Amino acid sequence: MLFSDLPIDHRLLHKLGLKGFNQATDIQANAVPHALLGKDLIVSSKTGSGKTLAYLVPAINRVMKTRALSKKDPRVLILAPTRELAKQVFLQLRALVEGPGSNVALILGGENFNDQVKALRRNPQYVVGTAGRIADHLTDKSLFLNGLELLILDEADRMLDLGFAPQLKQIHSAADHRKRQTMMFSATLDNAELHYLTQSLLKAPQRISLGSAG
Ligand code: ADP
Ligand code: MG
Repeated sequence: MLFSDLPIDHRLLHKLGLKGFNQATDIQANAVPHALLGKDLIVSSKTGSGKTLAYLVPAINRVMKTRALSKKDPRVLILAPTRELAKQVFLQLRALVEGPGSNVALILGGENFNDQVKALRRNPQYVVGTAGRIADHLTDKSLFLNGLELLILDEADRMLDLGFAPQLKQIHSAADHRKRQTMMFSATLDNAELHYLTQSLLKAPQRISLGSAG
């Protein structure tokens, strides 16, 4: 399947083409159509199968094609287990949305808190970060998620292994549940805590599982 076979904004298709992303990987071909319909998803496939674009494409498409629920709050929040992973996702996202009017913030643990408060005051449409520091900004009231449209948990299994379940629940409950779509990505699904998280955070999720754990 080609990305151009999907109902994706032409500006995004152009950026994908510039980066050499024309053909969707299996997991992208399976997940993106459901994600574009606004469904909650739990996706598992092995490492290297292309899960990042499986959520970045629908997230960017939504921001490009639809009007924001809130002018101030972020529209998309992406959580990753480690600083390194969050940074990689941030760079990939920024490469696909660079240009006037787009605004992406990277919010990592271990970095200067006040600099992040200033970045959040610029009302980024996309926030990428680690769960602990994002939760700290919610507690500090430097971040509000009432207008959040899309919550993405990348490597959810690793976030749970690192003990982030309380922060994930805090973040999830800070968002307005009526309007929000949640997508969880994981290398494996055979984890009792992940099963519990899926039950409590996702609404009638579409399960997409390809191959075995990686
Ligand atoms: P995962 O999160 O499943 O481990 P990644 O999203 O990190 O996988 O992608 C793995 C590699 O595949 C990256 O180098 C990425 O640039 C590349 N990739 C992803 N999707 C495509 C695509 N549609 N076409 C070509 N390369 C892709
Ligand atoms: Mg990944």
